Amino acid sequence: MSPKITRPRITGTTAVAGVAGAPVRHSLSPIIHNAWIEAAGLDAVYVPFSPCGDDFIRFAAGLRGGVIRGLNVTLPFKEAALSISDEVSERAERAGAVNLLVFDDDGRITGDNVDGLGLLGAFEAQTPDFDPKQGPVVIIGAGGAARGAAAAFVLAGAPEIRIVNRTLAKAEMVAGALGRTVRAYPLAAAAEAFEDAAAVINATSAGLADEMPDMPLEATPAQAIVMDMTYKPLLTPFLAKAQATQRRTVDGLEMLIRQAAPSFEAFFGRVPPADVDVRALCIETLESQA
Ligand code: NDP
Repeated sequence: MSPKITRPRITGTTAVAGVAGAPVRHSLSPIIHNAWIEAAGLDAVYVPFSPCGDDFIRFAAGLRGGVIRGLNVTLPFKEAALSISDEVSERAERAGAVNLLVFDDDGRITGDNVDGLGLLGAFEAQTPDFDPKQGPVVIIGAGGAARGAAAAFVLAGAPEIRIVNRTLAKAEMVAGALGRTVRAYPLAAAAEAFEDAAAVINATSAGLADEMPDMPLEATPAQAIVMDMTYKPLLTPFLAKAQATQRRTVDGLEMLIRQAAPSFEAFFGRVPPADVDVRALCIETLESQA
């Protein structure tokens, strides 16, 4: 009996998109996008790329002209992605970083930054009554993610944004780039920054190295919302402390999923299907990686 032949999933017409980063091995983006691709019945695939020699510019330049629909860009290539873009959205310009590249057939590359949409979408999903206009927002960290978050809150009308960072000079640079509603604080002044905050967001990479300094979350108002961009583990020590202090929390996984949705739309021209639980798939993957 001849073996059962199933139709190969990858064909000459299959559209390709992906994520580039270093490291990219444990990225959850392929899990999210491929689940949506399958549920939507698209002839497409989403793959992880780790550019050779970490030379992102050379890698991305080789993709010009529609070889690939687009790329999500993660650490450490977001600034390089900005520099290679022929056209950049206002939010990417303000964030000083690009996390979404679209490769047009005519060879042009368009850069966008959807981290801010992901961040605001995560608040909307997990704390629907939160309004960015309702009070000061504190962002801990002054790297690309913090700057993207600050830019998103400026555009969303937050009355004040406070950047708290280990290296004060970097916080001052972010504040200087984003205008007079953004102020810089050293880590030692975190309690002062937290005092009347509507939300506190951890945008440092300290959690990844298990080096997150203990933050005085008890100095925040009781109704403040605490968010952590880190999602490995899903309940980080920072969020665990917030919950122990009876603060409501928003997690980084929701942000990742919410920024994936506009990326999917940019790659494949349709919104992701709603009938697949990508959050559950991601949690399953995180548990298997732990
Ligand atoms: P960067 O490397 O650009 O910035 C890192 C920041 O963390 C800096 O401000 C740095 O302070 C601070 N930091 C690092 N270690 C420590 C420490 N031990 N104590 C205090 N501060 C520290 O990273 P990104 O901004 O690109 O990313 C930050 C985090 O956000 C990463 O964990 C990333 O995975 C996550 N992220 C999550 C997303 C999501 O969808 N959930 C999306 C984007 C990012 P200093 O300036 O003093 O060096």
